[in-house]
Amino acid sequence: MSEAVAGAVAERFKELYGADPEGVWAAPGRVNLIGEHTDYNDGFVMPFALPHTAVAAVSRREDGVVRLHSQDVEGGVSELRLDSLTPESDTAWTAYPAGVLWALREAGHPVTGADIHLASTVPAGAGLSSSAALEVVVALALNDLFSLGLRGWQLARLCQRAENVYVGAPVGIMDQTASACCEAGHALFLDTRDLSQRQIPFDLAAEGLRLLVVDTQVKHAHSEGEYGKRRAGCEKGAALLGVDALRDVPYDELDDALSRLGDEEEVRRLVRHVVTENHRVEQVVSLLESGGTRAIGPLLTEGHASLRDDFRISCPELDLVVDTALASGALGARMTGGGFGGSAIVLTEATEVDTITTAIEKAFTTAGFTQPRTFEATPSPGARRLR
Ligand code: ADP
Ligand code: MG
Repeated sequence: MSEAVAGAVAERFKELYGADPEGVWAAPGRVNLIGEHTDYNDGFVMPFALPHTAVAAVSRREDGVVRLHSQDVEGGVSELRLDSLTPESDTAWTAYPAGVLWALREAGHPVTGADIHLASTVPAGAGLSSSAALEVVVALALNDLFSLGLRGWQLARLCQRAENVYVGAPVGIMDQTASACCEAGHALFLDTRDLSQRQIPFDLAAEGLRLLVVDTQVKHAHSEGEYGKRRAGCEKGAALLGVDALRDVPYDELDDALSRLGDEEEVRRLVRHVVTENHRVEQVVSLLESGGTRAIGPLLTEGHASLRDDFRISCPELDLVVDTALASGALGARMTGGGFGGSAIVLTEATEVDTITTAIEKAFTTAGFTQPRTFEATPSPGARRLR
């Protein structure tokens, strides 16, 4: 399958640039199993890679020029000079791959130019990290072609810097690390403070389980401002509690911490979410490592309640997915990603997939919402060279 995809992308590269690419690489989107809004609090996250990937055919250039083309965007080839790349100067999709070249060169790596053609099956803007897939596939290709010798986590850091500084989006480190470092049949337990990571067995199919991703296809307009407010509120909580980050508030000292926040009601709610969410990630890790995959269901559902009631970033569409899935026999369900739209995940017995999917469709029709797109997510490999 991936051979056919690589062949098609290489073929198109040749049409665009007049020669075969030196190689073809793939990097996946991701879904976060648990650990939401913990990454900018130095906490724990647990993403796994989707089967959906960004694929890049790439050749080196030595003349300081990068040429960029995407199969999925209208328009032709963009040509940019490396020495004139300027942070936050580009509002088009090209900022993601160009930002990676910028970040590599800023870090002193000898990247002298490239011809790049991209094609992606990661749905864009669905909270499944199409942007990180795009960055990581370009970073991995350049790492190989220019023999930079960088490890996955190092590529992830450079890609995050590309997105933070060059694109101008204040994202954490999870998405890029997931795309670069995940392994098939596993979720990635990542400590966002020191970037230490552990592969946790998460082989759903072997246990007769499925994980559905339900993309509500909505994105409520105020989401970016709300993200900033939550982030600022968490920083205020850490400052009031005298810690570097909310990660430093131990779960068994939560009640004490909350009482010390006095009448800061909003900050209390944010702190409670972050501290309990970090604890849920650790519980999920222990359950998965001891073979208790089904038992993680209630923790996913508790995570949703915490995001809805304490962090207040859910929306009617996400709540409807979760409530309907649970009422139709799901083991657990939660919104995933930034909130105010995007996707929810549902953990279920394989035998219940059709019942749950149909129930969600019916509920959306009844509520007058646009139909969601539902697919099964198999924990898949991270970034890799295809040819
Ligand atoms: P997410 O990462 O959750 O999908 P983002 O807003 O972070 O959402 O990134 C989406 C952006 O990434 C798109 O608006 C587009 O600029 C870029 N992008 C994603 N996939 C592609 C693609 N196949 N070709 C070109 N640009 C893409
Ligand atoms: Mg993104």
